[in-house]
Amino acid sequence: MRQLVRNILLVEPKYKSKYPPLGLMKISTYHKLKGDRVVFVKGCIPEMQVQSWDRIYISSLFTYYWKETLQTIYYYQASVPSPADIYVGGVMATLLYDDLKSATGATVIPGLLDKPGILDAGDKINIDALTPDYSILNNIGVNFYYKLQDCYIGYATRGCPRRCPFCAVYRIEPEFVHYLPLKRQVQLIQELYGEKRDLILLDNNVLASERFSEIIGDIKSLGFEQGATYSYINKSGRTTIVKRHVDFNQGLDLRLLSEDKVALLSEIAISPLRLAFDDLSYKEMYENKVRLIAKYGINNLSNYVLYNYRDHPDELYERLKININLNEELGLQIFSFPMRYIDLYSKDRLTSTNGNVGKYWNKKYLRAIRCILNRTRGLVGTRRGYFEAAFGHNLDEYHKILLMPEAYILNRVQHEKDGSTELWWSQVCSLSGWERDIFMDIICNHRIYTVNYSELPRKVKDTLSHYLEHNNRKKNKHNDGRLLQSSLSSHFLK
Ligand code: SF4
Repeated sequence: MRQLVRNILLVEPKYKSKYPPLGLMKISTYHKLKGDRVVFVKGCIPEMQVQSWDRIYISSLFTYYWKETLQTIYYYQASVPSPADIYVGGVMATLLYDDLKSATGATVIPGLLDKPGILDAGDKINIDALTPDYSILNNIGVNFYYKLQDCYIGYATRGCPRRCPFCAVYRIEPEFVHYLPLKRQVQLIQELYGEKRDLILLDNNVLASERFSEIIGDIKSLGFEQGATYSYINKSGRTTIVKRHVDFNQGLDLRLLSEDKVALLSEIAISPLRLAFDDLSYKEMYENKVRLIAKYGINNLSNYVLYNYRDHPDELYERLKININLNEELGLQIFSFPMRYIDLYSKDRLTSTNGNVGKYWNKKYLRAIRCILNRTRGLVGTRRGYFEAAFGHNLDEYHKILLMPEAYILNRVQHEKDGSTELWWSQVCSLSGWERDIFMDIICNHRIYTVNYSELPRKVKDTLSHYLEHNNRKKNKHNDGRLLQSSLSSHFLK
């Protein structure tokens, strides 16, 4: 007997994402195979909330999107027969399984949908192996466009054999799968949803695959060899030819990048080649591998630079500078992406939350880095002039910038011209040892709005006025809290 058609709603909470929600797209394919009606929306949509759904799937991403994800779950709870008819999967669902279940009563699905019968008991379909349903992206209930929705997106491997403590991959994909049939994935997307220009691979550690050369062979045979092009008809009706790109978006493991593998990578249209530079102790290896990459003619690189973990702030500066030096030495374009470490289980990104501030970092320095990166959307350009203007010509200037009032960092030229930066710095430099300790304690712990100003020495007060006058213009609360004069474990101005 044929099963009744079910009404299925797929929801991605309204956080920013450049990737379309692959998990939901595969669930869409699954339910359509079952003959169900499927609708996809982004966020909380009143027209969807008022309808009755048999089941609602909500995806989750990082744990720090806890609030947005819970809001979405609560929003749709009255649209299903019971709270357990809301299914939540994804990264946060895996890492905060118990919390999510007890806070919402939803059915929480940890890990991958790579075994049959997870969504419907007795079913034989491996949902993770299904072709993502790209068609749902066209009926999004809000004006939302994913930057990468017009690409082939897939996996050539799954998981990672390593266990880096700052990474969630092994908790979500504990088994390393050396090979997945990439050709089949891409060909099916092409047949069903048309040809696409670029190939985005979400592999966590493709270089660990024993079948890496076979994967490169697959990529080449799909039309993504070095120099490959793609043609399309543009808006004015002309045929336009552009270069194709292959992007191992999660980055390649430096430690496994042998000369043989670089040679293989140079045979495909890789751009950019992404590397992680997580720790300054890899300096020599990193520089040597980048030289190897340059030797094989790959010029466009992207570098994930983890900070606020076990590193010292100086190590962020050093790693960024290494990329500038390599760009000049080798004629490369290495763009750096500093990535702030957030505790894996943190429910927000706040620096007041335990675990979100690294041992050698503090709230002020993290806010300063955010201000520096504010204008460039998180990217550090390839030129020395840009880097030195943003981060300083040397470590002394970098320390000064980290300490600078945020308004002075954001509007550097204006405040240098009107003399306020110079005045601020002369006041900082004129502080005596114990005054400097007080000042640093307030600044580094971001206590400028809560400290009791009436108890502060005059010179400290004057110096702090730069932060008050220009920093968000929040009202100084001048509370009666006792001024802590604790010595700082780590700062630059002792
Ligand atoms: S190598 Fe990369 S993917 Fe693997 S555990 Fe480390 S950070 Fe995660």
